Amino acid sequence: MERRHIKWVPLILAGLFFAYQYFSSEKFVNPETGRKSHVALSSEQEAALGLQSYQEVLSQAQTIETGPELDMVRRVASRLAAATGQTGADFQWQVALIQNPQVNAFCLPGGKVVVYTGILPVAESEAALATVLGHEMAHATSRLGSQRVLEQNLAQTAMTGVAMSLSDMDYDKQRAIMGALGAGAQYGVLMPFSRKHESEADEIGLIYMARAGYNPRESISFWKRMEHTGGSQPPEFLSSHPSHGTRIQQLEAEMPKAIEEYNKSPKAE
Ligand SMILES: [Zn+2]
Repeated sequence: MERRHIKWVPLILAGLFFAYQYFSSEKFVNPETGRKSHVALSSEQEAALGLQSYQEVLSQAQTIETGPELDMVRRVASRLAAATGQTGADFQWQVALIQNPQVNAFCLPGGKVVVYTGILPVAESEAALATVLGHEMAHATSRLGSQRVLEQNLAQTAMTGVAMSLSDMDYDKQRAIMGALGAGAQYGVLMPFSRKHESEADEIGLIYMARAGYNPRESISFWKRMEHTGGSQPPEFLSSHPSHGTRIQQLEAEMPKAIEEYNKSPKAE
């Protein structure tokens, strides 16, 4: 009696497509860390998407066009932009300060930086703002978003292959397996990747900050301050980020390298 549970052809095809997606994707070597990765989008595609989102954000926001706060944000962002070196060289850097109480800041691919006024009282100093913006700019220069898109595409291919290979199996069984695999992909693959990206953005952001002339030690005071202002809901730019303890430990480990960079940079303050 024939009992077919798993179909192998879709699995093999998905495996081949998975390999094709991975090996045909652009390779990216981060000059700050020497780390190699694959990205889903070209730099041009990233920049175009970044610009599009930037225009969308600005069209729905009230931007601040003049004043000491804008001057400060611009000064920090431009010192950091200059510190990104080779990776940020092709970026068309732009900075907007948005009148909004949200504690938030981000940098879109291609170098579009958005700061909400709500983050300024939390940051308190230029060095603290440099901590946040250095981290956010490192996401963009390290092409972490584009790496993320590739990871999600690959996970999708794998899941589709498995789903098709199970299509002879009874429905409840299929659902149970797909559910378990989906959770496995989320918690076992995608989330660790996302934590790894956050640590990488911290590490590179710290170097940017130091190279821009801000004392990298200030980053630790900043994260410690954030720990105590936590409240029930963490600020948006912290969501999915590592726990404070882990983050501070990792920053301490990177500190000697950052201090060395800081010592040879013209000071900002
Ligand atoms: Zn981040």
